[in-house]
Amino acid sequence: MIKVGICGIAGRMGQRISHLTLEAEELDLGGGVEFPGHPVIGKDIGEVIGIPPKGISVVDTVEAMTDNVDVITAFTAPPDPTVVAAEIAGRAGVPMVIGTTGLSPDQVETMTHALKNVACVFAPNFSVGVTILVQLVEEAARILGGDYDAEIVEAHHRFKTDAPSGTAYALAEAAARGLNRNLQEVGVYGRYGDTGERTREEIGVHAIRAGDIVGEHTIMFGGIGETIELVHRAQSRDTFASGVIRAIPFAAGATPGMYDMRDVLGLK
Ligand code: NAD
Repeated sequence: MIKVGICGIAGRMGQRISHLTLEAEELDLGGGVEFPGHPVIGKDIGEVIGIPPKGISVVDTVEAMTDNVDVITAFTAPPDPTVVAAEIAGRAGVPMVIGTTGLSPDQVETMTHALKNVACVFAPNFSVGVTILVQLVEEAARILGGDYDAEIVEAHHRFKTDAPSGTAYALAEAAARGLNRNLQEVGVYGRYGDTGERTREEIGVHAIRAGDIVGEHTIMFGGIGETIELVHRAQSRDTFASGVIRAIPFAAGATPGMYDMRDVLGLK
């Protein structure tokens, strides 16, 4: 049985990962963390996620649960606590599954360094559909080439604090790879005012925030006389949480290193 510690247990993702962990045959909940002062600190995990008591209290530091867990998941907002969790897990030798988005390149580097001696699955989107979509976008961009303009539109719920989504970046990077371009040079994030004509190289990325949209991504390849669209719609957070449930045993059994969902699905 793999014992799972959930960093951000009271959050939207933390709650769903906890429930699916309890439903999975080979997994069990071993701990939960929230920020110091959060109303759930000291409460039983069962109470926090709406099930009978588990006899485990929510703690306010990752250190307090490392001895009782085999893998730690981190889906936090803001992203900073995920970096702290990685530093603690790395020192304690506990593998991680990380889905937090909005981390700066410096934070990703710090995290990767901190986790160099353990396995970590780190993905901006744990859905199987999006993982496959990223591959399709790269392939489509490669085949279509420079005659088609690549544009990405993503839509998420009003509570999301980072933009564009980590998934939109991943899709833009996939298009850039397929087109043999550097996203840092050709990425255009939103347009406003007298922008001039679109350059042939740019890859546009646009973010919508509205209501309770779980997550939608559209990749458009616009040519002369035709448009191709690849669309992914997440109808519930369980699409991400069930990917996390597949990633947990993978992280528990993998040799140290950084992995993503393509590794988990055997697509590499
Ligand atoms: P949320 O706001 O519902 O939950 C975040 C949780 O983190 C909250 O409970 C918050 O209290 C907790 N937190 C804050 N500081 C903490 C600390 N110091 N220690 C422990 N916990 C702390 O947000 P959410 O919708 O669950 O999303 C969380 C993150 O996951 C975001 O970055 C989001 O973009 C990302 N996300 C990723 C995927 C994916 O598939 N990779 C899917 C959905 C969301």
